[in-house]
Amino acid sequence: MTIEQEKRVVERMIRLYCRKYEKNQTLCSACKALLDYAHLRLSRCKYGDAKPTCRLCPIHCYRPDRRKQMQQVMRYAGPRMLMYYPKDALMHLWSELMNGRNRCSY
Ligand code: SF4
Ligand SMILES: [Zn+2]
Repeated sequence: MTIEQEKRVVERMIRLYCRKYEKNQTLCSACKALLDYAHLRLSRCKYGDAKPTCRLCPIHCYRPDRRKQMQQVMRYAGPRMLMYYPKDALMHLWSELMNGRNRCSY
């Protein structure tokens, strides 16, 4: 996936988590901060458009607290993406398959 595609997918996942799990009508400040952080990391990703999915990235550039926050979002939103955004979910799965087996939880 390209950086722009990844940005769109991560935004959908964070918004889904905030709306459905946290029951917020609009994106809360904690999720907004996570989204801004994730987009910034993606903009600075050293792999560019040839990047692996962040979950399988060998260097994983997230700082520990943000990584933990993202793991929580992914645990909820990951399986639900197939229902809400099947195209994005399948693209993401395909990208992971192309990048080998799971190495970490996010
Ligand atoms: S975790 Fe890896 S793939 Fe994701 S933005 Fe950071 S360096 Fe790039
Ligand atoms: Zn939220």
